[in-house]
Amino acid sequence: MIRKILHIDMDAFYASVEVRDNPKLYGLPVIVGGSPESRAVVCAASYEARKYGIRSAMPCSHAKRLCPQAIFLPPRFHYYREISQEIHKIFHQYTIEIEPVSLDEAWLDVTQNHKNIPSATWIAQSIKNEVHAKLNLICSAGVSYNKFLAKIASDEDKPNGLYIIRPEDASQFLQKMEVKKIPGVGKVTLKKLNSLGVYIGSDLLKKEEGFLTEQFGKMGGYLHQIIRGIDNRPIKTNRERKSISVEHTFSRDLHYVDCVPEKLRAVVIELQDRLKNKNLYGRTLTLKVKFQDFHQITRSLSREDFYLTENEIYQDLELKLKEATDQFSEKRVRLIGVGLSNLATQEELERQQQQLNFLNL
Ligand SMILES: [Mg+2]
Repeated sequence: MIRKILHIDMDAFYASVEVRDNPKLYGLPVIVGGSPESRAVVCAASYEARKYGIRSAMPCSHAKRLCPQAIFLPPRFHYYREISQEIHKIFHQYTIEIEPVSLDEAWLDVTQNHKNIPSATWIAQSIKNEVHAKLNLICSAGVSYNKFLAKIASDEDKPNGLYIIRPEDASQFLQKMEVKKIPGVGKVTLKKLNSLGVYIGSDLLKKEEGFLTEQFGKMGGYLHQIIRGIDNRPIKTNRERKSISVEHTFSRDLHYVDCVPEKLRAVVIELQDRLKNKNLYGRTLTLKVKFQDFHQITRSLSREDFYLTENEIYQDLELKLKEATDQFSEKRVRLIGVGLSNLATQEELERQQQQLNFLNL
């Protein structure tokens, strides 16, 4: 069955929110990011600022040189997150098949939808209207039959766009499309593609799969599929990846000093393997300890940024484990479980890191 996928992308989200809340900024070049005197990067730029060539992830100092009169505002991520939740409430009126990409972007599968609306385009238009009416913000929507094409489509007609790539039009669209638009094609891949004479889709279509795999490894197979409009990835909703956890029951009950930290290490390694397999990162750790008498405790901790390495995860858990076993020092440990939640994919992580970068500088 042909699916109906929407990609909804808020236009200049953070900047639009700031302008909405302070109408004096309307029509001005507004940049959300750090101070231009710092090494901060641009998180979002209004369309007026973009006219000066200002783009996300550009150093704010450079943006200031391009447009000295630009207005720089500090980001309010918690506030943007709240608004993002309001937007998701609108999506939820139509479907629960929602995959958030970042605060301002999501895929929706509306093949089956709560209102039994047959036209995905109609749903996209309704969502756009409601986002505008309820939140006074604009977004662009892409409509197609898979995630890749829906995402490409939402970018075609920005801002306030609505663009449809129908199955019968996909081939022609992709032949003319610049290959640099393919998600995952970064600078290095693009340079190599160009060196092989590949600039647009029709150039890529001429390359055989074997050749592409030889040149680009796994990426080659992906390119071969995607340029034919083939992308069978399902919508991954948050509920499907709420958390990942691992637990080990010991063959005998142990005191802390009996290698419990080493046992924890093994659990963390397994957790990290699972995360890697699914390409996920998380911000909230949960430790579960079950004692010899089956008394069970859990301890959680959350960070603002994602855990990137096994060591980071281990160090935080080890502290919690020490606290817990100190508290019940008379008891031996029977089981240790660790879980990671507040998960994000590599793609989400990269975006959020880009946005948070300046905070760490
Ligand atoms: Mg956006």
